[in-house]
Amino acid sequence: MLIDLHTHSSASDGTDSPSELMANAALAGLDVIALSDHDSMSGWDEAQTAAQRHGLTLVRGLEVSCTYRGASVHLLGYEPDPGHEAMRAELRRVLHGRVERLPRILRKLANVGVHLTEDEVADAAGRAAASGRPHVADAMIRRGYVADRDEAFERYLKPGRPGYVDRYAADLPTMIELINDAGGVAVLAHPWSRGSWRVLDAKAFAELRQVGLAGIEVDHVDHEETKRRRLRGIAADLDLVVTGSSDYHGDGKTGYYLGCNTTRPGEYERLLRRRRE
Ligand code: AMP
Ligand code: ZN
Ligand code: FE
Ligand code: FE
Repeated sequence: MLIDLHTHSSASDGTDSPSELMANAALAGLDVIALSDHDSMSGWDEAQTAAQRHGLTLVRGLEVSCTYRGASVHLLGYEPDPGHEAMRAELRRVLHGRVERLPRILRKLANVGVHLTEDEVADAAGRAAASGRPHVADAMIRRGYVADRDEAFERYLKPGRPGYVDRYAADLPTMIELINDAGGVAVLAHPWSRGSWRVLDAKAFAELRQVGLAGIEVDHVDHEETKRRRLRGIAADLDLVVTGSSDYHGDGKTGYYLGCNTTRPGEYERLLRRRRE
């Protein structure tokens, strides 16, 4: 039984449509797949129809851009009620922050000789509800400024580079509570990848457990073996569920292939039980 609990579609910055993603998940031999687009649930319906067609179990999720002690942290939410008004309101704020950031990124890029229009980025973003830096990168590729998304982030878009602009993100403990309120379960995405490892120490995990965190994503490409071992220890101490997933983005990010990391069936069962508790 292969379970991958973190993937992206073209509803955010993945390159597969939700239907293509489900087809590729079936080809990869997955049994259970979570669609977890950034800050948006807009891919759910299409994914559900396609998952049924392929005999896959779809977990409807999302990955919310959060902030904790001044650092950027990603939070996975699984199966929240999509109609929960307070959660929706916070997601709208995050999406608005993405929209507002774009012209500022383009102005900064123009200062270093990279000229793109908002239309070009909108074109690259297509139907994405959550547009982001990867779409700016795609527009740069089309204009020949860079060869791929990696080069765009390295030269222009990551923190410290000339095109970087911060944006609004949700308060992490608040978002954990909102996901729970909406009947979902909350799991910290790649807690020790770049950006978040400084602020997420054992004490932080304990605090987040208190407000309703259910699990942590341990098996992820961004974590090498030592980190995984230490995170597993923290999860055991705090009775947190351990998940693993690919963080697949289609062609948008190389090395994050469907099923490259997976969640053990027993941990998946525990996660489902936490949701019902
Ligand atoms: P944003 O959502 O606009 O803040 O952009 C962050 C997203 O860009 C992350 O969630 C990743 O999906 C993606 N990303 C970050 N670094 C890279 C990279 N080097 N290459 C491709 N995608 C990246
Ligand atoms: Zn992404
Ligand atoms: Fe993430
Ligand atoms: Fe992700």
